[in-house]
Amino acid sequence: MEGKDSPKTAGKPIRCRAAVARKAGEPLVIEEVMVAAPKAHEVRIRIICTSLCHSDVTFWKLKDPPGYFPRILGHEAIGVVESIGEDVDGVTEGDTVIPIFLPDCGECVDCKSTKSNLCSKLLFEVSPWMHGDETSRFTDLKGQALYHFLYVSSFSEYTVVDIAHVVRVDPAIPPNRACLLSCGVSTGVGAAWRTANVEAGSTVAIFGLGAIGLAVAEGARLCGASRIIGVDVNSDKFEIGKKFGVTDFVNPASCKDKSSGEQVIIEMTGGGADYCFECVGLASLVHEAYACCRKGWGKTVVVGVDKPGARLNFSSFEVSNQNLIFPSLLNVTWTRNCSWMNLLHTREVSPMRYLDEPMSLLGKRTL
Ligand SMILES: [Zn+2]
Ligand SMILES: [Zn+2]
Repeated sequence: MEGKDSPKTAGKPIRCRAAVARKAGEPLVIEEVMVAAPKAHEVRIRIICTSLCHSDVTFWKLKDPPGYFPRILGHEAIGVVESIGEDVDGVTEGDTVIPIFLPDCGECVDCKSTKSNLCSKLLFEVSPWMHGDETSRFTDLKGQALYHFLYVSSFSEYTVVDIAHVVRVDPAIPPNRACLLSCGVSTGVGAAWRTANVEAGSTVAIFGLGAIGLAVAEGARLCGASRIIGVDVNSDKFEIGKKFGVTDFVNPASCKDKSSGEQVIIEMTGGGADYCFECVGLASLVHEAYACCRKGWGKTVVVGVDKPGARLNFSSFEVSNQNLIFPSLLNVTWTRNCSWMNLLHTREVSPMRYLDEPMSLLGKRTL
């Protein structure tokens, strides 16, 4: 689908290209698909930029539910509203929007609360369908339905999203950075800023300096942490981490064993870090992070998500020593007036510098 959106396309299916995951773990296939017109409470979005989150990779590999195929993955994106369905308020054609995998109906007690962002009206599940009628808006050219992913499915030139999953943003926001606000950056910054509420002058240890861990460093830096220790088996991450506020680095692979690595951090922080963040998604690493946290007032925040079925194993005595916190996904309260998005944008949160140059996902023609 080339050129500007035209009112002629409103209410009709659009034929465009998408990267389709046909089978678990197999390369995505660039193919033409049909994207149905939005139904009530839905908008159709022309995707400008999308990014790859590790959760896309996790679900791409999953052979069994909640892995479903053929599926259009992708849940970090920014785009422009091409057309709207019935009963859509607050967003109109031409608006720049960021689709968000967590719904915000704006009406239920949870969405109205500042304590949670887990909507109790539109439940968050890794569903292969749209909310409401539990069907797909995508079909391939043979008429086979293509499954949705996290209510976003942004690896397509066009997608249909429920209005509860859309945040309108300032169109001046650089699109190749803004798409990261859909998930990774908000999760990490929010974990430090909103979930842990890191205090000025405190010490922080971050286990795993991927995109989420770097965003946690950014959040901790914004909160005024005095020491931010990055923990990663790749020593190259230290230089990258410095840009986001990391002040010290520990490579556990260079330590004699696991407990000596933990001891290094405990000594560096004079008894354990005030805040530890697990940002890899490994149950075993949660235990390591917890061991490096200060007894008494320390808080260990579990940001990473291990594979389904992974278990943590803490004794009740252990967890009586300090806080173990499981944030609710994005850690922030989204509002459709995009206060959070614009706050990130205007405070020039440095994960906005994450990317170098964007690539074209679908070949020569850009989205
Ligand atoms: Zn994600
Ligand atoms: Zn709600």
